[in-house]
Amino acid sequence: MWISRVFYLSGLLILLSCKSSELTRLNVVVGLNVGESKEVELINGEVIKLKLIDINIVRDSLRKAVRAAFLTLSVDGEEVTLGCGNYNLPVRVGNIKIDCPVIKEITATSSYYARSAILQSDARFRLWPANSPFIQKGTFAFPLKQAWMASRTQSQNEPAGLGWAENLASDNMGYHATHDFGGAEGMEEIFSATDGLVVSSNNEVMDDYKDLPGDVRPDVVWVVDGRGWYIRYSHLNSIKPEIKAGTNIKMGQKIGYMGKQGGSGGWVHLHFGVHYRDPVTSVWEAEDAIPYLWEAYVRQYKPALLAIARPRLLARTGDEITLDGSKSLSLSGEIVTYQWIFTDRTTAEGAVQSRSYEKAGEYSEILKITDSKGNVDYDFTYVQVYDRDHPDRRIPTIHPAYYPTLNINPGDPVTFLVRTFGSDTGDEIWDFGDGTEKVKVNSGVVQRQTQNDGQYASTLHSFQKPGHYIVRVERVNEFGFPAIGHLHVTVADRRKK
Ligand SMILES: [Zn+2]
Repeated sequence: MWISRVFYLSGLLILLSCKSSELTRLNVVVGLNVGESKEVELINGEVIKLKLIDINIVRDSLRKAVRAAFLTLSVDGEEVTLGCGNYNLPVRVGNIKIDCPVIKEITATSSYYARSAILQSDARFRLWPANSPFIQKGTFAFPLKQAWMASRTQSQNEPAGLGWAENLASDNMGYHATHDFGGAEGMEEIFSATDGLVVSSNNEVMDDYKDLPGDVRPDVVWVVDGRGWYIRYSHLNSIKPEIKAGTNIKMGQKIGYMGKQGGSGGWVHLHFGVHYRDPVTSVWEAEDAIPYLWEAYVRQYKPALLAIARPRLLARTGDEITLDGSKSLSLSGEIVTYQWIFTDRTTAEGAVQSRSYEKAGEYSEILKITDSKGNVDYDFTYVQVYDRDHPDRRIPTIHPAYYPTLNINPGDPVTFLVRTFGSDTGDEIWDFGDGTEKVKVNSGVVQRQTQNDGQYASTLHSFQKPGHYIVRVERVNEFGFPAIGHLHVTVADRRKK
């Protein structure tokens, strides 16, 4: 009697201590082939019947790379179509939230999955109970103090195509499983997304962690968190001296500044990747962290509305491409209008639009959405267009960024930065969208061998009135092909503060 009571108490204590400190996934990960059904037990014990009915893959005309994939599923008998990766957030279906981070073909044809296994099933899904957050509250923070996707990004299986345009000659599609957030070099601060152990920093690595699923470099920090996730922060311009291999780090602790060191492609960004070993096979896997990043951002910054025009697209002149803003979402009302504002200054109403281009170049198309409460948001999708008759003629690409991106008041100086790749000629011309005169800068000529050297062209601008500004920047290369970029700058109304 006495013994059993002690056992009972210690068992309870173990249970309680696990509950308070254990970090765990809130989703379950499931692989399915087309035609296959599975019963899936969620973390709350509920069982869901899932069937993958069909996968529809959209490819570009030049490389036949996957630009979008749509998966038709039955969830407890309810049919639903999900977009895979590509800035799609999990959607609610019946009693669950579900997303598809990746399909098999993407893992089979990309160096960004090199250390991961090729998917065993046609597609992978993550399932959460409908009322569950994506990640445990208070365990994951947005690693930047930057407005959501304020600059260019590469994420969730978008083929790599920045700084330089996509490499048409390469069989490696470079589907970027992890997340690149563009920003201002040496200005944008980087913070740890989680508590954890710094296992590698500034070219040092702990003895027990030599088998990392990526580089040990002077610009890279690896943190292992309580979930056993290996979180990579790359291309840092500088790392705080106290962020040493073997030290503990707290969520929100500053790691350093954004840069373009290492294999950055020459464009300034944070590469943020989450990796883990499959608990059964021990093979490295890439975890799509966008739902967690998004949820952390929403908790911290409480946006009302999110326009989503990405990912980047690829075409030849004359090809018809589809722009899709229907992934956009409202957190406080309902989206009532979708408007596209094209680089040729024409506009169209409706989330989905077809488009073709007469001239090669890199274009940035503007999506404007409005919700039932009058909130407005913008996003941009870049389209890289090659000349149908001369696909060997390179196109320029442009990376605009600004700092700060949050809490800008009228009259505040804002730094605007730009760099153009694939151009031997021309200046960048800024149009700040507020009626002020255009400003000419020059970021020079970027060479591949020395792409990490040099600086973006910089200029300061301030906006005199509150509002939304669409800032445009353009440079034309030696073939007469333009690269056009946009930024959305929100200037606050002080009186509302
Ligand atoms: Zn990256």
